Amino acid sequence: MSTTTPSPSAPASSSPPSPEAELEQLNRRNRDFAATYQGGLQMRPRFLTGVLTCADPRIDPAHFLGLELGDAVVMRNLGGRVDAGIEREMSILSAMTKMLLGPDAPPLHLAIVHHTDCGMERFASVEAQARLGRATGIDAHTIDELAIADHDHSFAADVDRLRRSPVVPNRTLVSCHLYDVHSGTLTQVRAPAPLA
Ligand SMILES: [Zn+2]
Repeated sequence: MSTTTPSPSAPASSSPPSPEAELEQLNRRNRDFAATYQGGLQMRPRFLTGVLTCADPRIDPAHFLGLELGDAVVMRNLGGRVDAGIEREMSILSAMTKMLLGPDAPPLHLAIVHHTDCGMERFASVEAQARLGRATGIDAHTIDELAIADHDHSFAADVDRLRRSPVVPNRTLVSCHLYDVHSGTLTQVRAPAPLA
């Protein structure tokens, strides 16, 4: 085995797969999927409950909540946090629900799911936030809002942001849950309750 230190431009001993090779694999999986796929699903989800959760590849509601196609709206971002995009989406989804079901449509329910060992916990300290700010150009305040230091605090901040949002209906129900990446279990932290 060679002890020579590779130059930075040298390929790593086990080079990662190329995007083309990954796409080939993904397209193969899609062909398998399409081979048994039954279309005809309606745009309107079966559940009034939508899920907001982290983009972490270990966290997927299709797996840990057993969601089937057509069941529920799932929104994901880093941390599963409420930001301006989630406010907009909840606002538009609420309006779409009324368009589909009529003015007496029941309120939507958003289940916010954060998880243990979340990558956004790594930016809890001021030093880590400053490092991320320098690396990305994102302002310190935004990074501080998205970082997770304490799950109770993050849940409270997310619910509060929805409550203060000028575009999210106050009757929207919100619940909070913590998913354990080691055990696969979901623990309810806040029962569904309207924002106001
Ligand atoms: Zn995460």
